[in-house]
Amino acid sequence: MRDKIKVLYIAGWGRSGSTILDNLLGQVDGFFSAGELCYLWEHDLFEGGLCGCGAPLGSCEVWGRVLADADVGRIDAREMARLEDKGLRTRHLPLMLIPHAGKLLASRLEGYLENLARLYSTIARVTGARVIVDSSKSPAYGRVLGMAPTVDLYVVHLVRDPRASAYSWLKKKRQPDRGEFGLMDRHAPAKSSLMWDAWNGAAEAFWRRYPKRYVKLRYEDLVADPRGSLTRVLGLVGEADARLPFVNGREVELRVSHTVAGNPNRFQAGTVKLRPDDEWKSGLRLRDRALVTALTLPGLIHHGYLAPRRRP
Ligand SMILES: [Zn+2]
Repeated sequence: MRDKIKVLYIAGWGRSGSTILDNLLGQVDGFFSAGELCYLWEHDLFEGGLCGCGAPLGSCEVWGRVLADADVGRIDAREMARLEDKGLRTRHLPLMLIPHAGKLLASRLEGYLENLARLYSTIARVTGARVIVDSSKSPAYGRVLGMAPTVDLYVVHLVRDPRASAYSWLKKKRQPDRGEFGLMDRHAPAKSSLMWDAWNGAAEAFWRRYPKRYVKLRYEDLVADPRGSLTRVLGLVGEADARLPFVNGREVELRVSHTVAGNPNRFQAGTVKLRPDDEWKSGLRLRDRALVTALTLPGLIHHGYLAPRRRP
């Protein structure tokens, strides 16, 4: 039997701070921050996307070797992209929620799982990492990744106030992966809210029952107490004693990363100060704020966003 590779998977809805969490974890000795690997097949490989180090993916010192060694040329990348785009983000979610559907899904995705296994094993071999951090976020992709024969999956479920995420999805942000004038995708508040409900609900449904494999982390708590939050996450993968990259308090030293896809702040390096981002409180229109609150109400309560403020 092949050795299993520890993959620390960041699950949750987009614009929840997963890129900075991925980048922070990537600074830990023995960890490799891979970015949003579910997008490898479609955007980056075929559309000349950039690695976090700034080089085109194929000429990056890490990814150039990974893609060659994993023999990606033999993998039917278009089929991988088609499966991910059409199914693994959301459409397979209902099937995955049915007990014992795993075998059915695994049989449908046999070739896909073999390719994933090959890719993650190659990343571990080329980088020498004990833990690969993948911030793809989609619960469906994470569930399938956990079925890959060489993957030992651990999940950090990152939750952010849905009103903050909705506000972020409304903003026009540059996306260097999409050329000089490229912008990041945007979603209307209603769609962001419904996806927040679906993806956070699915992440809990898949993994909450496995406390040795799953930890929930609120973005707001990560920013308020980065050291304590990261220590919890490291404990999940048996690396509680690893040295954290903090210069002091909330300042962190980020080395150049080699991430595939994600928020443009993955290109950030040097000393970065983590600070709460409450811009949505003044920037989100009242109408949108009311809509998001209504559409995510059970989740807002469940994740403690409407609880009375506790005294320190
Ligand atoms: Zn690179």
